[in-house]
Amino acid sequence: LASLENLSIRFGDRQVLSNINLRIEAGARVGLVGESGSGKSLTALSLMNLLPESAEASGVIHLNFGQHVKIDATQLGEDLPFPYRGAQIGMVFQEPMTALNPLMRIGDQIGEVLALHRPDLNTKAHIGQLLEEVDLRADMHRRYPHELSGGQRQRVGLAMALAGEPELLIADEPTSALDMITQRGVIDLIKRIASARQMGLLFISHDLGAVAALCDQIYVLEKGKLVEHGDSQTILKNPQQPYTQRLVAAAK
Ligand code: ATP
Ligand code: MG
Repeated sequence: LASLENLSIRFGDRQVLSNINLRIEAGARVGLVGESGSGKSLTALSLMNLLPESAEASGVIHLNFGQHVKIDATQLGEDLPFPYRGAQIGMVFQEPMTALNPLMRIGDQIGEVLALHRPDLNTKAHIGQLLEEVDLRADMHRRYPHELSGGQRQRVGLAMALAGEPELLIADEPTSALDMITQRGVIDLIKRIASARQMGLLFISHDLGAVAALCDQIYVLEKGKLVEHGDSQTILKNPQQPYTQRLVAAAK
């Protein structure tokens, strides 16, 4: 579905990502794990063409949603052609309020995504279905974001990402602002929906345990460099790099 080839990003003379090679096949569940500041969000934002303007990127991004598009990363930030115009990639953000408008009812916000990508499905009934898919009550559509708990807001963010019927879902630490029990619920929900919809998943977290529970493959990012990649069980049982070994120890 998507791959990064030698993606590098710097801010001025500060290199924050170096030669990242990462691949997400259709339907695959891929984890990206690393400490705070290792470059996880920037990796996700590159795929979404949402890099900050001051970022200077290089490398190549391949997107393949029925049609192969090759993007020179130096062009990120410009208006790019399909699939950036479409909804093929949905993203759940680290901070739920990044995606939500505090002044708008959540049902209307989901409706806005539908109006853009699936105007034929922009009905109250379908908005209710999307809310129920993320384990919220359909009658919550009238609420404002501040009337929801953090976990509920994150579920609304997920419903908005799903509204465009993406083939790839990127979840960037969707649970880092939530308590432990709520975290578990959101992770289980993402797992359930990703299998039900047969979407590809890029799940980003600093918590290797959470990533291993959800993903088949894991990429390990340390200070802007990928240091290890493999299937989840192998990485958990037999981590090669000292950095990965520390993450595995922390996950136990
Ligand atoms: P966290 O787990 O805290 O979310 P992360 O792995 O997602 O961390 P990124 O947000 O990708 O990390 O940031 C990687 C590096 O790039 C960090 O050192 C950060 O300070 C730097 N960075 C990110 N955005 C900007 C920006 N707009 N301007 C300058 N530096 C930035
Ligand atoms: Mg981040």
